[in-house]
Amino acid sequence: VATTQILPKGVSAREFARALVEFGRIVGEDFVIRSEEQLLPYRKAMLPEQPEPLLCSAVVIPANVEEIQGILKVCNRHRISIWPISTGRNFGYGSAAPATPGQVVLELRRLNRILEVDAELGTALVEPGVTYQQLQDHLKERNIPLWLDFPAPGPLVGPVGNTLERGGGQTPYGDHFGHCCGMEVVLADGAILRTGLGGVENSNSWQCYRYGYGPYLDGIFTQSNFGIVTKLGLWLMPAPPAHRTFLVQYPEDADLAKAVDVIRPLRLDRTIGNFGVLFNAALALTSFVRKADLHNGPGAVPDERIFAAARERGITPWMYSFSLYGRPEIVEVNSRVVTAAFEQSGAVVIPDIHDPMQVNELSLETFRLLNWTEGGGLAWFAPVCPNRGADMRNQHLLAKSIMSDHGLDFMTGATCIGREIENVMPLVFNPASAEESQRADACMRRLIREFTAAGYGIYRTGTNYMDLVASLHGATNLEVNRRLKRALDPNGILAPGKSGIQI
Ligand SMILES: Cc1cc2nc3c(=O)[nH]c(=O)nc-3n(C[C@H](O)[C@H](O)[C@H](O)COP(=O)(O)OP(=O)(O)OC[C@H]3O[C@@H](n4cnc5c(N)ncnc54)[C@H](O)[C@@H]3O)c2cc1C
Repeated sequence: VATTQILPKGVSAREFARALVEFGRIVGEDFVIRSEEQLLPYRKAMLPEQPEPLLCSAVVIPANVEEIQGILKVCNRHRISIWPISTGRNFGYGSAAPATPGQVVLELRRLNRILEVDAELGTALVEPGVTYQQLQDHLKERNIPLWLDFPAPGPLVGPVGNTLERGGGQTPYGDHFGHCCGMEVVLADGAILRTGLGGVENSNSWQCYRYGYGPYLDGIFTQSNFGIVTKLGLWLMPAPPAHRTFLVQYPEDADLAKAVDVIRPLRLDRTIGNFGVLFNAALALTSFVRKADLHNGPGAVPDERIFAAARERGITPWMYSFSLYGRPEIVEVNSRVVTAAFEQSGAVVIPDIHDPMQVNELSLETFRLLNWTEGGGLAWFAPVCPNRGADMRNQHLLAKSIMSDHGLDFMTGATCIGREIENVMPLVFNPASAEESQRADACMRRLIREFTAAGYGIYRTGTNYMDLVASLHGATNLEVNRRLKRALDPNGILAPGKSGIQI
């Protein structure tokens, strides 16, 4: 089998060959991947038009923290950069591929122990390779009445990678970083840091109290390249005695602002228990049809075809699905409150619908989105929107006009978090078509620039847009990140390019 020709930046073929032998001694040769064929899955970023192919040079798969420390020694000695992944399914943001070519992927799937679950306190401590499926099976087998909150690809991915990206789900614990408690982090020099109360010898409260003593550090290890997280504490939601999921349908495209202004107060006073998803007809249609079923010409599917196809299936231009959780009598009262609020604003409210993500059921339903066009290319554009109707309408019009200029269909599945909405919009394209890929790339770059120029920041972005996004979020911010990087990783071996953090 052919071995890889791609090298880490600035490292000679001879030196890299020596480093690979050293990796092999630490983890065992079977856990050093370097054949082109085996590297393929780690190279499929599925993002638009990359400036250079984001190809990794090898993959190393350690089994424990000591092996990670050994790998870091080798990397520091040879100045080899390393890209940590947990379950490596960061779909739409670069998947398992590094942000710059030649990095060695450090795959943590063998660190897959559920170290602790405290059924009384509703806490868990897990390693990076643990998947939501594994954790859910663990709870079910032991009849522990705790729910998980997961992102849409739940069965395939795990809490560590998702939380470190500050990902989200659809129960009241949907803010994953907001519900983690205590990290173990291996720093670039091999030192082991335990955040929060994890530094106390025999700590019995590491997973109960987030802030520890002194500066609260956990945030700097998310969307960053300052360390390798090897353990993460989680808070899990007690299974609610009752819950009820609703679908709210607004009949007109112009109803978006109205919908947001009804949702906001119900979220801020927590009558609505979870973020819910506010989505448009085009996104809903991806569950039923492909783009080619509606439109064969160039450009985006015309609105009238989207709305006609939607009507046939009982889909309206804007819909919001959300849930109420708690004691039955409280769910009962709040059902009346929310129904009246939405109905007064002209919406139809359908009670008792089923949305697996809102009720602790793992499913891969949302992957139908990838069938919209051939090829399954996906890049998320994810601006933050103040939770105000006027802003959401403004984002809608701006994004739709830019996407339409580039021949892409406007879709959104926005999570109504609290004071802000994460307005998550998929750009779906065929990566096998160079022309389509270039269009999607130009579209994404314009979206990022025009949204930030209008004052809107970005929640999260794919590997090939990280430098651009970071450059638009403040010069002092860039500089402080650079100082932290130099202090914690002076050789710059950890994930260069991640979140646009420079050394
Ligand atoms: C149809 C569809 C729907 C989606 N819906 C959602 C959704 O609802 N919510 C959501 O959040 N996402 C969603 N995603 C995006 C993505 O697939 C998930 O966020 C997924 O959980 C990320 O992949 P992962 O968990 O395998 O993380 P990984 O790929 O393992 O990690 C992500 C990144 O975090 C860093 N990292 C990972 N582990 C470590 C570590 N141990 N130490 C240091 N750094 C580390 C690395 O930079 C890595 O690239 C969706 C994707 C698709 C295709």
